[in-house]
Amino acid sequence: MDYEMVNCPVCNSNNTKVYYPETRDTRIYVCPVCGKFELDHNSSDGINKNHLASYLFYHAYSDENGGRYHTELSEEACTEIRSASKGKRHPIHMDAQIVDNWYPHTFSEKTDKILLFLGEHEKHFGEIQKYGLTPLKAMLFIDLQETDSEKKYKWRHDTNTINDARRVLSILKQTNMIFYQEHPMGLVDIALEPEGYKRIDELQRSMSVGNDVLVAMEFGDKTKAVREAIRKGIINAGFNPIIYDEVENNDFIMPELLKSIRDCKFVVADLSDYNNGAYFEEGYAMGLGKAVIQVCKKGTELHFDAAQKNTIVFETEEELTTKLTRRIRATIS
Ligand SMILES: [Zn+2]
Repeated sequence: MDYEMVNCPVCNSNNTKVYYPETRDTRIYVCPVCGKFELDHNSSDGINKNHLASYLFYHAYSDENGGRYHTELSEEACTEIRSASKGKRHPIHMDAQIVDNWYPHTFSEKTDKILLFLGEHEKHFGEIQKYGLTPLKAMLFIDLQETDSEKKYKWRHDTNTINDARRVLSILKQTNMIFYQEHPMGLVDIALEPEGYKRIDELQRSMSVGNDVLVAMEFGDKTKAVREAIRKGIINAGFNPIIYDEVENNDFIMPELLKSIRDCKFVVADLSDYNNGAYFEEGYAMGLGKAVIQVCKKGTELHFDAAQKNTIVFETEEELTTKLTRRIRATIS
């Protein structure tokens, strides 16, 4: 497919490719900072552009040919594209609610995400990492744009956003979380300091990192309605569902899945379909001390151990969504 070079509409990076899909009125971007994503320019769904910049940076699909990309297309459209392309293309749905549920709103939520990111991207213990200014701003949750009186987005001046980034870095430095040093060419060295490492250890132990909820269930068309009901129930409670049906290659998914279980806040397991994977994921999560909410269709017989646990039993999908939201609000703080 032909592409043009533009500035990224989300982070303003140059060196961004844009493709125009033939069959729909969207644009697919490949940005060195945001990775690969598709925006629908007629969409009424107003994703906050500043939140989107950090969301894409933290979840970037950087392999241009890897098939996976974020998109504003609906879940249903994503599923269709995945099956029509026989898994070669993996659009992953995002919308305003998903982005906002993920976005950290308090100072400590932000610093926690920054430290975890630095910890994950440190190849060697104690390593100094180098970042350009644009990825750095996305990492530090700096607003790149502001809205005018007509709610139109305008880029903020570089001087202002760079100063904001410097302020955040200096706060993290003052509290002994990180070391940083600026180079004249716009590169910044960052390394973790003792308090940063300590906080990462604490977070990894406390199993309360972020808003992600892993959904363990049988995948496929048969369970689609239940999957959407679970997704809705989790989003309505203010959390961010991680669902792995998007990925079909099992070799690739396993380590990533285990990592998602380790990093998630809690797990929702659908045991309606006697799915061994769901039992395995639930067991692994419980071994890590995570909360697990079990759901199952009325009439399902559960394995003995699972039957001991308090379970949401549902007859209809609407009932599942309502009960799940209520249960999450009551049991997860
Ligand atoms: Zn970008």
